[in-house]
Amino acid sequence: MKELKDRILKDGRALNETVLKVDSFLNHQVDAKLMYEMGTYFKEYFKNHGITRILTIESSGIAPTAMTALQMELPMVTLKKQQSKILNGEVYQTTVHSFTKAMNYELTLSKNYIHADDKVLIIDDFLANGEASLGAARLVEEAGATVAGIGIVIEKSFQVGRGKLEEKGYDVYSLARVAKLGKDLIEFLD
Ligand code: 5GP
Repeated sequence: MKELKDRILKDGRALNETVLKVDSFLNHQVDAKLMYEMGTYFKEYFKNHGITRILTIESSGIAPTAMTALQMELPMVTLKKQQSKILNGEVYQTTVHSFTKAMNYELTLSKNYIHADDKVLIIDDFLANGEASLGAARLVEEAGATVAGIGIVIEKSFQVGRGKLEEKGYDVYSLARVAKLGKDLIEFLD
């Protein structure tokens, strides 16, 4: 997605060789128009995948996913990043390890918002080591539903995430694929 790559080059900042900061349009301040355009790309790529529901992870996945759900006219569900206090069999939960934050967190999904016949598109803001997307996929599959695709806003292609997701057979579509980060350096794959 050219508009996104241009914006990353203009406003993104590589903190080091692994972390990209995009706080001015995605992770803190949000450019709603750019999010809407992202929705156009996700809709085009996934339009024939029979998607019935879109899942994302709070909080930075919400804006691009809401715009995609709006355009695809589908329900959107946000996975909560905390342990549910009510463990009465009403939720699916899984532990995810974050390498960026060097911590574990729980992903929680209410059983009310996913069904066995769902074909789910998972969307997230970043793909790094793939742990967040794999955690979301585990919840979908625990519910007996199908992961019909994974949409990523910014993929860091020099990390292992895409490989892990493809190994599981998931169709991964990323709007921008970063090949290299460094001091004052952001390079794309294509
Ligand atoms: P993964 O689970 O694929 O290792 O990491 C994905 C998650 O970590 C994303 O949901 C995102 O919140 C966060 N993340 C990973 N790398 C970056 C990065 O370079 N910049 C930002 N802003 N978030 C990142």
